[in-house]
Amino acid sequence: MNEEKKIIHYDALVVGGGIAGGEAALNLANSGYRVLLVEKERSLGGKMILLSKVFPTLDCSACITTPKVSEIARHKNITIFTESEVTTIDKRSENDFVAQITKKPRYVHVEDCTACQLCEQACPVSVRDEYQQGLIGRKAAFIPFSIANPKAAAIDIENCTLCGACEKVCPTHCIDFTMQPEQFELHARTVVMATGFNLFDPLEIPRYGYGQHKNVITSMQMEREIAPTRPFNTILRPGDGKVPDKIAYVLCAGSRDASVGNPICSQICCMYSIKQAQLLMGALPMADVTIYYINIRSFGKGFEEFYQQAKGMGVSFVKGKIGTIKEKENGNLILRYEDISEGVVKEAEHDMVVLSVGVKSNPDAGKIFPQGALKLDPHRFVAQTDLMGSPAKTSIDGVFVAGTASAPMDIPDSILSAGSASSEAISYIKQHQEA
Ligand SMILES: Cc1cc2nc3c(=O)[nH]c(=O)nc-3n(C[C@H](O)[C@H](O)[C@H](O)COP(=O)(O)OP(=O)(O)OC[C@H]3O[C@@H](n4cnc5c(N)ncnc54)[C@H](O)[C@@H]3O)c2cc1C
Ligand code: SF4
Ligand code: SF4
Repeated sequence: MNEEKKIIHYDALVVGGGIAGGEAALNLANSGYRVLLVEKERSLGGKMILLSKVFPTLDCSACITTPKVSEIARHKNITIFTESEVTTIDKRSENDFVAQITKKPRYVHVEDCTACQLCEQACPVSVRDEYQQGLIGRKAAFIPFSIANPKAAAIDIENCTLCGACEKVCPTHCIDFTMQPEQFELHARTVVMATGFNLFDPLEIPRYGYGQHKNVITSMQMEREIAPTRPFNTILRPGDGKVPDKIAYVLCAGSRDASVGNPICSQICCMYSIKQAQLLMGALPMADVTIYYINIRSFGKGFEEFYQQAKGMGVSFVKGKIGTIKEKENGNLILRYEDISEGVVKEAEHDMVVLSVGVKSNPDAGKIFPQGALKLDPHRFVAQTDLMGSPAKTSIDGVFVAGTASAPMDIPDSILSAGSASSEAISYIKQHQEA
Protein backbone atom coordinates (compact mmCIF):
# COMPACT_ATOMS: atom_id res chain seq x y z
CA MET A 1 0.00 0.00 0.00
CA ASN A 2 1.21 3.48 -0.92
CA GLU A 3 0.83 5.11 2.51
CA GLU A 4 1.02 8.70 1.31
CA LYS A 5 -2.49 10.15 1.16
CA LYS A 6 -3.05 12.79 -1.50
CA ILE A 7 -5.36 15.67 -0.62
CA ILE A 8 -7.46 16.77 -3.59
CA HIS A 9 -10.18 19.41 -4.06
CA TYR A 10 -13.11 19.35 -6.49
CA ASP A 11 -16.43 21.16 -6.63
CA ALA A 12 -18.43 17.94 -6.90
CA LEU A 13 -17.96 14.26 -6.24
CA VAL A 14 -20.06 11.91 -8.37
CA VAL A 15 -20.06 8.31 -7.12
CA GLY A 16 -20.85 5.83 -9.92
CA GLY A 17 -19.97 6.12 -13.60
CA GLY A 18 -23.08 4.60 -15.19
CA ILE A 19 -25.33 6.63 -17.45
CA ALA A 20 -26.80 8.57 -14.51
CA GLY A 21 -23.46 9.44 -12.91
CA GLY A 22 -21.93 10.25 -16.27
CA GLU A 23 -24.80 12.56 -17.19
CA ALA A 24 -24.69 14.31 -13.81
CA ALA A 25 -20.92 14.78 -14.13
CA LEU A 26 -21.30 16.22 -17.64
CA ASN A 27 -23.98 18.69 -16.57
CA LEU A 28 -21.88 19.91 -13.65
CA ALA A 29 -18.74 20.12 -15.80
CA ASN A 30 -20.54 21.98 -18.60
CA SER A 31 -21.61 24.56 -16.00
CA GLY A 32 -17.97 25.16 -15.15
CA TYR A 33 -17.66 22.99 -12.03
CA ARG A 34 -14.75 20.62 -11.50
CA VAL A 35 -15.96 17.09 -10.96
CA LEU A 36 -14.36 13.91 -9.68
CA LEU A 37 -16.22 10.90 -11.08
CA VAL A 38 -15.46 7.70 -9.15
CA GLU A 39 -16.31 4.31 -10.67
CA LYS A 40 -15.59 0.97 -9.07
CA GLU A 41 -15.39 -1.02 -12.31
CA ARG A 42 -12.60 -0.94 -14.92
CA SER A 43 -14.73 1.04 -17.39
CA LEU A 44 -17.31 3.78 -17.33
CA GLY A 45 -20.78 3.12 -18.72
CA GLY A 46 -22.49 1.01 -16.05
CA LYS A 47 -25.05 -1.51 -17.30
CA MET A 48 -25.98 0.57 -20.33
CA ILE A 49 -22.66 0.07 -22.09
CA LEU A 50 -23.30 -3.70 -21.99
CA LEU A 51 -26.78 -3.56 -23.54
CA SER A 52 -27.74 -4.48 -27.12
CA LYS A 53 -30.40 -2.06 -28.27
CA VAL A 54 -32.76 -0.01 -26.16
CA PHE A 55 -36.50 -0.04 -25.82
CA PRO A 56 -38.68 1.42 -27.15
CA THR A 57 -36.68 2.97 -30.00
CA LEU A 58 -34.39 0.00 -30.72
CA ASP A 59 -31.45 2.41 -31.02
CA CYS A 60 -28.08 0.75 -30.60
CA SER A 61 -27.08 1.16 -26.95
CA ALA A 62 -23.34 1.28 -27.63
CA CYS A 63 -23.89 3.97 -30.28
CA ILE A 64 -25.46 6.19 -27.61
CA THR A 65 -23.22 5.27 -24.71
CA THR A 66 -19.76 5.35 -26.30
CA PRO A 67 -19.85 8.96 -27.60
CA LYS A 68 -21.25 10.10 -24.25
CA VAL A 69 -18.59 8.21 -22.32
CA SER A 70 -15.86 9.68 -24.58
CA GLU A 71 -17.25 13.19 -23.99
CA ILE A 72 -17.09 12.57 -20.24
CA ALA A 73 -13.58 11.13 -20.46
CA ARG A 74 -12.27 14.06 -22.52
CA HIS A 75 -13.97 16.86 -20.59
CA LYS A 76 -11.44 19.23 -19.08
CA ASN A 77 -13.53 19.70 -15.93
CA ILE A 78 -13.92 15.97 -15.23
CA THR A 79 -11.35 13.73 -13.58
CA ILE A 80 -12.13 10.02 -13.63
CA PHE A 81 -11.02 7.40 -11.16
CA THR A 82 -11.94 3.90 -12.31
CA GLU A 83 -11.37 0.78 -10.16
CA SER A 84 -11.79 3.08 -7.21
CA GLU A 85 -13.77 2.91 -4.04
CA VAL A 86 -15.17 5.71 -1.92
CA THR A 87 -14.89 4.22 1.54
CA THR A 88 -16.38 7.05 3.60
CA ILE A 89 -17.86 10.50 3.15
CA ASP A 90 -18.09 12.91 6.11
CA LYS A 91 -19.93 16.18 5.96
CA ARG A 92 -17.69 18.60 7.89
CA SER A 93 -19.56 21.78 6.94
CA GLU A 94 -22.17 22.93 4.43
CA ASN A 95 -19.56 23.09 1.69
CA ASP A 96 -16.95 20.58 2.80
CA PHE A 97 -17.68 16.91 2.14
CA VAL A 98 -14.58 14.86 2.89
CA ALA A 99 -14.31 11.53 1.08
CA GLN A 100 -11.70 8.82 1.55
CA ILE A 101 -10.99 7.13 -1.77
CA THR A 102 -8.87 4.10 -2.61
CA LYS A 103 -7.71 3.72 -6.20
CA LYS A 104 -6.80 0.12 -6.89
CA PRO A 105 -3.75 -0.67 -9.02
CA ARG A 106 -4.48 -1.71 -12.61
CA TYR A 107 -0.88 -2.94 -13.06
CA VAL A 108 -0.89 -1.19 -16.43
CA HIS A 109 0.00 2.45 -17.06
CA VAL A 110 -3.14 3.35 -18.98
CA GLU A 111 -1.63 6.38 -20.73
CA ASP A 112 1.04 4.19 -22.38
CA CYS A 113 -1.16 1.20 -23.28
CA THR A 114 -2.09 1.04 -26.98
CA ALA A 115 -4.69 -1.72 -26.47
CA CYS A 116 -2.73 -3.90 -28.91
CA GLN A 117 -3.86 -7.04 -27.02
CA LEU A 118 -0.46 -8.74 -27.28
CA CYS A 119 -0.48 -9.27 -23.51
CA GLU A 120 -3.89 -10.92 -23.79
CA GLN A 121 -2.62 -13.31 -26.44
CA ALA A 122 0.48 -14.19 -24.41
CA CYS A 123 -1.28 -14.73 -21.08
CA PRO A 124 -1.79 -18.45 -20.34
CA VAL A 125 -4.52 -17.95 -17.70
CA SER A 126 -8.19 -18.14 -18.69
CA VAL A 127 -11.01 -17.15 -16.33
CA ARG A 128 -14.70 -16.31 -16.57
CA ASP A 129 -15.33 -13.07 -18.48
CA GLU A 130 -17.59 -11.05 -16.20
CA TYR A 131 -18.33 -8.43 -18.87
CA GLN A 132 -19.66 -11.16 -21.20
CA GLN A 133 -21.65 -12.45 -18.21
CA GLY A 134 -19.62 -15.66 -18.00
CA LEU A 135 -20.63 -16.84 -21.49
CA ILE A 136 -17.00 -17.00 -22.55
CA GLY A 137 -13.59 -16.74 -20.92
CA ARG A 138 -10.98 -14.03 -20.85
CA LYS A 139 -7.34 -13.87 -19.94
CA ALA A 140 -5.82 -12.59 -16.70
CA ALA A 141 -4.21 -9.84 -18.81
CA PHE A 142 -7.15 -8.37 -20.66
CA ILE A 143 -8.98 -5.42 -22.12
CA PRO A 144 -12.32 -5.43 -20.27
CA PHE A 145 -14.39 -5.20 -23.46
CA SER A 146 -14.01 -3.72 -26.90
CA ILE A 147 -15.83 -0.44 -26.17
CA ALA A 148 -14.52 -0.02 -22.62
CA ASN A 149 -13.39 3.40 -21.52
CA PRO A 150 -10.53 3.65 -20.72
CA LYS A 151 -9.66 1.19 -23.46
CA ALA A 152 -6.55 -0.22 -21.92
CA ALA A 153 -5.40 -3.54 -20.59
CA ALA A 154 -5.71 -4.48 -16.95
CA ILE A 155 -4.18 -7.30 -14.96
CA ASP A 156 -6.56 -9.41 -12.91
CA ILE A 157 -4.08 -9.93 -10.10
CA GLU A 158 -6.24 -12.43 -8.23
CA ASN A 159 -5.92 -14.93 -11.06
CA CYS A 160 -2.48 -13.91 -12.33
CA THR A 161 0.31 -16.44 -11.80
CA LEU A 162 2.98 -13.73 -12.22
CA CYS A 163 4.54 -15.74 -15.05
CA GLY A 164 5.66 -12.51 -16.72
CA ALA A 165 4.59 -13.53 -20.26
CA CYS A 166 2.54 -10.35 -20.71
CA GLU A 167 5.38 -8.09 -19.58
CA LYS A 168 7.77 -9.70 -22.06
CA VAL A 169 5.55 -9.03 -25.09
CA CYS A 170 4.26 -5.59 -24.18
CA PRO A 171 5.78 -3.24 -26.80
CA THR A 172 5.38 -0.12 -24.63
CA HIS A 173 6.55 -1.67 -21.34
CA CYS A 174 3.48 -0.32 -19.59
CA ILE A 175 2.78 -3.39 -17.43
CA ASP A 176 3.97 -2.67 -13.93
CA PHE A 177 3.52 -5.20 -11.13
CA THR A 178 4.92 -2.76 -8.57
CA MET A 179 1.82 -0.53 -8.71
CA GLN A 180 0.21 0.00 -5.31
CA PRO A 181 -3.23 1.15 -4.19
CA GLU A 182 -3.38 4.94 -3.88
CA GLN A 183 -5.19 6.78 -1.10
CA PHE A 184 -6.92 10.12 -1.62
CA GLU A 185 -8.69 12.53 0.67
CA LEU A 186 -11.13 14.48 -1.41
CA HIS A 187 -12.77 17.76 -0.38
CA ALA A 188 -15.91 18.50 -2.39
CA ARG A 189 -18.73 21.01 -2.05
CA THR A 190 -21.48 18.63 -3.05
CA VAL A 191 -22.00 14.92 -3.73
CA VAL A 192 -24.12 13.06 -6.30
CA MET A 193 -24.79 9.41 -5.50
CA ALA A 194 -25.28 7.44 -8.74
CA THR A 195 -24.37 3.97 -7.53
CA GLY A 196 -27.05 2.28 -9.64
CA PHE A 197 -28.73 -1.04 -9.04
CA ASN A 198 -27.88 -4.71 -8.65
CA LEU A 199 -29.53 -7.50 -10.58
CA PHE A 200 -31.55 -10.06 -8.70
CA ASP A 201 -29.51 -13.23 -8.21
CA PRO A 202 -31.53 -16.07 -9.82
CA LEU A 203 -29.78 -18.66 -7.62
CA GLU A 204 -32.19 -17.44 -4.94
CA ILE A 205 -35.02 -19.24 -6.78
CA PRO A 206 -33.67 -22.81 -7.13
CA ARG A 207 -36.86 -24.10 -8.80
CA TYR A 208 -35.93 -22.10 -11.92
CA GLY A 209 -32.79 -24.22 -12.23
CA TYR A 210 -30.36 -21.38 -12.91
CA GLY A 211 -26.83 -22.61 -12.28
CA GLN A 212 -28.01 -26.24 -12.63
CA HIS A 213 -29.55 -26.25 -16.10
CA LYS A 214 -27.05 -24.79 -18.55
CA ASN A 215 -29.69 -23.52 -20.97
CA VAL A 216 -31.39 -21.35 -18.37
CA ILE A 217 -29.76 -17.95 -18.67
CA THR A 218 -30.43 -14.44 -17.40
CA SER A 219 -31.70 -11.50 -19.41
CA MET A 220 -28.30 -9.81 -19.01
CA GLN A 221 -26.65 -12.85 -20.59
CA MET A 222 -29.12 -12.68 -23.47
CA GLU A 223 -28.42 -8.94 -23.72
CA ARG A 224 -24.77 -9.86 -24.38
CA GLU A 225 -25.72 -12.56 -26.89
CA ILE A 226 -27.62 -10.07 -29.03
CA ALA A 227 -25.30 -7.07 -28.58
CA PRO A 228 -23.09 -5.88 -31.47
CA THR A 229 -20.07 -6.73 -29.26
CA ARG A 230 -21.48 -10.21 -28.60
CA PRO A 231 -19.38 -13.19 -27.58
CA PHE A 232 -20.53 -15.43 -30.46
CA ASN A 233 -21.55 -14.64 -33.99
CA THR A 234 -25.08 -15.88 -33.45
CA ILE A 235 -27.38 -16.81 -30.59
CA LEU A 236 -26.22 -20.04 -28.95
CA ARG A 237 -27.51 -21.93 -25.99
CA PRO A 238 -24.63 -22.37 -23.56
CA GLY A 239 -25.21 -26.07 -22.80
CA ASP A 240 -24.18 -27.41 -26.21
CA GLY A 241 -23.76 -24.49 -28.57
CA LYS A 242 -26.99 -25.29 -30.43
CA VAL A 243 -28.85 -22.40 -32.07
CA PRO A 244 -32.13 -22.34 -30.11
CA ASP A 245 -35.45 -22.42 -31.90
CA LYS A 246 -37.92 -22.33 -29.03
CA ILE A 247 -37.04 -19.68 -26.48
CA ALA A 248 -39.04 -18.84 -23.34
CA TYR A 249 -38.94 -15.72 -21.19
CA VAL A 250 -39.90 -15.86 -17.53
CA LEU A 251 -40.96 -12.39 -16.42
CA CYS A 252 -40.89 -11.11 -12.85
CA ALA A 253 -38.00 -13.48 -11.95
CA GLY A 254 -37.23 -12.03 -8.54
CA SER A 255 -39.62 -9.07 -8.84
CA ARG A 256 -43.03 -8.63 -7.20
CA ASP A 257 -42.14 -11.59 -5.04
CA ALA A 258 -42.16 -11.05 -1.30
CA SER A 259 -40.97 -14.62 -0.77
CA VAL A 260 -37.55 -13.61 -2.12
CA GLY A 261 -37.57 -10.26 -0.35
CA ASN A 262 -38.28 -8.19 -3.46
CA PRO A 263 -41.95 -7.22 -3.56
CA ILE A 264 -41.44 -4.29 -5.93
CA CYS A 265 -41.98 -4.12 -9.68
CA SER A 266 -38.62 -3.72 -11.41
CA GLN A 267 -40.22 -1.50 -14.07
CA ILE A 268 -37.81 -2.47 -16.86
CA CYS A 269 -38.15 -6.26 -17.21
CA CYS A 270 -41.38 -6.38 -19.24
CA MET A 271 -40.00 -3.94 -21.75
CA TYR A 272 -36.47 -5.27 -22.03
CA SER A 273 -37.90 -8.79 -22.53
CA ILE A 274 -40.21 -7.53 -25.29
CA LYS A 275 -37.21 -5.77 -26.82
CA GLN A 276 -35.08 -8.91 -26.69
CA ALA A 277 -37.93 -10.98 -28.16
CA GLN A 278 -38.13 -8.59 -31.11
CA LEU A 279 -34.37 -8.71 -31.63
CA LEU A 280 -34.44 -12.51 -31.46
CA MET A 281 -37.17 -12.65 -34.10
CA GLY A 282 -34.83 -10.63 -36.31
CA ALA A 283 -31.73 -12.68 -35.51
CA LEU A 284 -33.44 -16.09 -35.68
CA PRO A 285 -36.43 -15.67 -38.01
CA MET A 286 -37.48 -19.31 -37.66
CA ALA A 287 -37.45 -19.32 -33.85
CA ASP A 288 -40.52 -19.30 -31.59
CA VAL A 289 -40.35 -16.86 -28.72
CA THR A 290 -42.83 -17.13 -25.82
CA ILE A 291 -43.09 -14.66 -22.97
CA TYR A 292 -44.63 -16.00 -19.73
CA TYR A 293 -45.93 -13.04 -17.74
CA ILE A 294 -48.15 -12.11 -14.82
CA ASN A 295 -49.05 -8.65 -16.17
CA ILE A 296 -47.36 -6.68 -18.93
CA ARG A 297 -46.62 -3.22 -17.62
CA SER A 298 -46.20 -1.09 -20.73
CA PHE A 299 -46.75 2.22 -18.98
CA GLY A 300 -44.20 4.54 -20.65
CA LYS A 301 -44.19 6.62 -23.79
CA GLY A 302 -44.29 4.35 -26.82
CA PHE A 303 -44.30 1.20 -24.65
CA GLU A 304 -47.80 -0.08 -25.47
CA GLU A 305 -47.12 0.34 -29.19
CA PHE A 306 -43.84 -1.53 -28.70
CA TYR A 307 -45.70 -4.37 -26.98
CA GLN A 308 -48.28 -4.55 -29.78
CA GLN A 309 -45.44 -4.50 -32.33
CA ALA A 310 -43.93 -7.61 -30.68
CA LYS A 311 -47.29 -9.38 -30.87
CA GLY A 312 -47.54 -8.41 -34.54
CA MET A 313 -44.12 -9.92 -35.16
CA GLY A 314 -45.36 -13.25 -33.79
CA VAL A 315 -44.01 -13.24 -30.22
CA SER A 316 -46.38 -15.40 -28.10
CA PHE A 317 -47.57 -14.02 -24.76
CA VAL A 318 -48.83 -16.51 -22.16
CA LYS A 319 -50.34 -15.26 -18.92
CA GLY A 320 -48.75 -17.88 -16.75
CA LYS A 321 -46.92 -18.30 -13.47
CA ILE A 322 -43.92 -20.60 -13.68
CA GLY A 323 -43.74 -23.27 -10.99
CA THR A 324 -40.67 -25.27 -11.94
CA ILE A 325 -38.17 -25.63 -14.74
CA LYS A 326 -36.79 -29.15 -15.27
CA GLU A 327 -34.07 -30.23 -17.63
CA LYS A 328 -34.38 -33.08 -20.13
CA GLU A 329 -31.44 -35.24 -21.15
CA ASN A 330 -31.06 -33.37 -24.43
CA GLY A 331 -30.77 -30.06 -22.53
CA ASN A 332 -34.30 -28.93 -23.37
CA LEU A 333 -36.36 -27.49 -20.55
CA ILE A 334 -39.83 -28.36 -19.33
CA LEU A 335 -41.69 -25.41 -17.86
CA ARG A 336 -44.52 -26.31 -15.53
CA TYR A 337 -46.80 -23.33 -15.14
CA GLU A 338 -50.22 -22.17 -14.11
CA ASP A 339 -52.08 -20.86 -17.13
CA ILE A 340 -53.73 -17.90 -15.38
CA SER A 341 -56.33 -17.29 -18.12
CA GLU A 342 -57.57 -20.88 -18.07
CA GLY A 343 -56.82 -21.65 -14.40
CA VAL A 344 -55.05 -24.91 -15.21
CA VAL A 345 -51.54 -26.25 -14.77
CA LYS A 346 -49.73 -26.93 -18.05
CA GLU A 347 -46.31 -27.96 -19.28
CA ALA A 348 -44.34 -26.64 -22.23
CA GLU A 349 -40.97 -27.58 -23.70
CA HIS A 350 -38.42 -24.97 -24.75
CA ASP A 351 -34.80 -25.31 -25.71
CA MET A 352 -33.63 -22.18 -23.92
CA VAL A 353 -35.09 -20.17 -21.04
CA VAL A 354 -34.29 -16.56 -20.24
CA LEU A 355 -35.01 -15.36 -16.70
CA SER A 356 -36.02 -11.70 -16.77
CA VAL A 357 -34.28 -10.90 -13.52
CA GLY A 358 -35.43 -8.00 -11.44
CA VAL A 359 -33.80 -4.92 -9.96
CA LYS A 360 -32.41 -4.80 -6.44
CA SER A 361 -30.86 -1.90 -4.59
CA ASN A 362 -27.10 -1.51 -4.40
CA PRO A 363 -26.25 -1.50 -0.68
CA ASP A 364 -23.02 0.49 -1.30
CA ALA A 365 -24.78 3.87 -1.12
CA GLY A 366 -25.86 3.47 2.49
CA LYS A 367 -22.49 2.13 3.63
CA ILE A 368 -20.41 5.13 2.56
CA PHE A 369 -21.89 7.64 5.01
CA PRO A 370 -21.70 7.47 8.82
CA GLN A 371 -24.21 4.97 10.21
CA GLY A 372 -27.77 5.86 9.21
CA ALA A 373 -26.95 9.36 7.92
CA LEU A 374 -28.05 8.63 4.37
CA LYS A 375 -31.59 7.38 4.79
CA LEU A 376 -32.71 4.41 2.72
CA ASP A 377 -36.26 3.50 1.75
CA PRO A 378 -37.84 0.18 2.83
CA HIS A 379 -36.28 -1.54 -0.20
CA ARG A 380 -32.85 -0.10 0.61
CA PHE A 381 -32.72 2.34 -2.28
CA VAL A 382 -31.56 5.88 -1.38
CA ALA A 383 -34.60 7.61 0.14
CA GLN A 384 -35.89 10.66 -1.71
CA THR A 385 -36.85 12.93 1.16
CA ASP A 386 -38.84 15.38 -0.98
CA LEU A 387 -40.11 13.07 -3.70
CA MET A 388 -42.79 15.36 -5.06
CA GLY A 389 -40.99 18.68 -4.72
CA SER A 390 -37.36 17.82 -5.35
CA PRO A 391 -36.80 14.14 -6.16
CA ALA A 392 -32.99 14.31 -6.14
CA LYS A 393 -32.83 15.43 -2.49
CA THR A 394 -31.65 12.96 0.12
CA SER A 395 -31.61 13.03 3.92
CA ILE A 396 -28.23 14.82 3.81
CA ASP A 397 -28.35 18.43 2.65
CA GLY A 398 -25.89 18.75 -0.24
CA VAL A 399 -26.03 15.05 -1.22
CA PHE A 400 -28.21 14.28 -4.23
CA VAL A 401 -29.27 11.01 -5.84
CA ALA A 402 -29.30 10.22 -9.56
CA GLY A 403 -30.69 7.29 -11.53
CA THR A 404 -31.41 3.81 -10.23
CA ALA A 405 -29.67 4.43 -6.91
CA SER A 406 -33.08 5.76 -5.82
CA ALA A 407 -35.43 3.25 -7.55
CA PRO A 408 -35.70 0.99 -10.58
CA MET A 409 -35.97 3.07 -13.76
CA ASP A 410 -35.10 2.94 -17.43
CA ILE A 411 -32.44 4.94 -19.25
CA PRO A 412 -34.49 8.03 -20.17
CA ASP A 413 -35.68 8.34 -16.56
CA SER A 414 -32.12 7.82 -15.27
CA ILE A 415 -30.94 10.66 -17.50
CA LEU A 416 -33.80 12.92 -16.36
CA SER A 417 -33.02 12.08 -12.76
CA ALA A 418 -29.34 12.91 -13.32
CA GLY A 419 -30.40 16.27 -14.77
CA SER A 420 -32.39 16.96 -11.64
CA ALA A 421 -29.54 15.87 -9.33
CA SER A 422 -26.94 17.98 -11.12
CA SER A 423 -29.08 21.11 -11.19
CA GLU A 424 -29.87 20.69 -7.48
CA ALA A 425 -26.15 20.21 -6.83
CA ILE A 426 -25.33 23.40 -8.75
CA SER A 427 -27.96 25.37 -6.78
CA TYR A 428 -26.54 23.96 -3.57
CA ILE A 429 -22.98 25.01 -4.45
CA LYS A 430 -24.17 28.53 -5.36
CA GLN A 431 -26.24 28.82 -2.21
CA HIS A 432 -23.27 27.94 0.00
CA GLN A 433 -20.63 29.81 -2.02
CA GLU A 434 -20.02 32.48 0.60
CA ALA A 435 -20.36 30.19 3.60
C1 LIG B 1 -31.06 -6.84 -19.08
C2 LIG B 1 -31.34 -5.37 -19.05
C3 LIG B 1 -31.77 -4.72 -20.20
C4 LIG B 1 -32.08 -3.36 -20.15
N1 LIG B 1 -32.54 -2.76 -21.30
C5 LIG B 1 -32.91 -1.45 -21.26
C6 LIG B 1 -33.45 -0.81 -22.43
O1 LIG B 1 -33.55 -1.42 -23.50
N2 LIG B 1 -33.86 0.51 -22.34
C7 LIG B 1 -33.78 1.20 -21.15
O2 LIG B 1 -34.18 2.35 -21.12
N3 LIG B 1 -33.25 0.61 -20.03
C8 LIG B 1 -32.82 -0.68 -20.08
N4 LIG B 1 -32.28 -1.26 -18.95
C9 LIG B 1 -32.14 -0.44 -17.72
C10 LIG B 1 -30.80 0.33 -17.69
O3 LIG B 1 -29.75 -0.59 -17.64
C11 LIG B 1 -30.79 1.27 -16.49
O4 LIG B 1 -31.86 2.17 -16.59
C12 LIG B 1 -29.51 2.10 -16.42
O5 LIG B 1 -28.37 1.27 -16.54
C13 LIG B 1 -29.45 2.85 -15.09
O6 LIG B 1 -28.25 3.57 -15.03
P1 LIG B 1 -27.58 3.97 -13.64
O7 LIG B 1 -26.42 4.84 -13.97
O8 LIG B 1 -28.61 4.51 -12.73
O9 LIG B 1 -27.10 2.60 -13.00
P2 LIG B 1 -25.92 1.48 -13.42
O10 LIG B 1 -26.02 1.25 -14.87
O11 LIG B 1 -26.16 0.41 -12.46
O12 LIG B 1 -24.61 2.28 -13.10
C14 LIG B 1 -24.14 2.46 -11.78
C15 LIG B 1 -22.65 2.56 -11.81
O13 LIG B 1 -22.17 2.85 -10.49
C16 LIG B 1 -21.05 2.03 -10.22
N5 LIG B 1 -20.97 1.85 -8.77
C17 LIG B 1 -21.80 1.15 -7.97
N6 LIG B 1 -21.40 1.23 -6.69
C18 LIG B 1 -20.29 2.01 -6.68
C19 LIG B 1 -19.43 2.46 -5.65
N7 LIG B 1 -19.62 2.13 -4.39
N8 LIG B 1 -18.38 3.25 -6.00
C20 LIG B 1 -18.17 3.57 -7.31
N9 LIG B 1 -18.97 3.18 -8.32
C21 LIG B 1 -20.02 2.41 -8.01
C22 LIG B 1 -21.35 0.73 -10.96
O14 LIG B 1 -20.17 -0.02 -11.18
C23 LIG B 1 -21.97 1.27 -12.25
O15 LIG B 1 -20.99 1.56 -13.22
C24 LIG B 1 -31.94 -2.61 -18.95
C25 LIG B 1 -31.44 -3.26 -17.81
C26 LIG B 1 -31.16 -4.62 -17.86
C27 LIG B 1 -30.67 -5.30 -16.61
S1 SF4 C 1 1.94 -12.39 -15.52
FE1 SF4 C 1 -0.22 -12.78 -15.07
S2 SF4 C 1 -1.35 -11.51 -16.49
FE2 SF4 C 1 0.75 -11.62 -17.24
S3 SF4 C 1 0.74 -13.34 -18.68
FE3 SF4 C 1 1.33 -14.21 -16.70
S4 SF4 C 1 -0.61 -14.88 -15.77
FE4 SF4 C 1 -1.13 -13.51 -17.45
S1 SF4 D 1 -0.52 -3.67 -21.79
FE1 SF4 D 1 0.99 -3.65 -23.45
S2 SF4 D 1 0.65 -5.54 -24.59
FE2 SF4 D 1 -1.16 -5.18 -23.31
S3 SF4 D 1 -2.58 -4.06 -24.63
FE3 SF4 D 1 -1.41 -2.55 -23.49
S4 SF4 D 1 0.32 -2.02 -24.84
FE4 SF4 D 1 -0.54 -3.96 -25.62
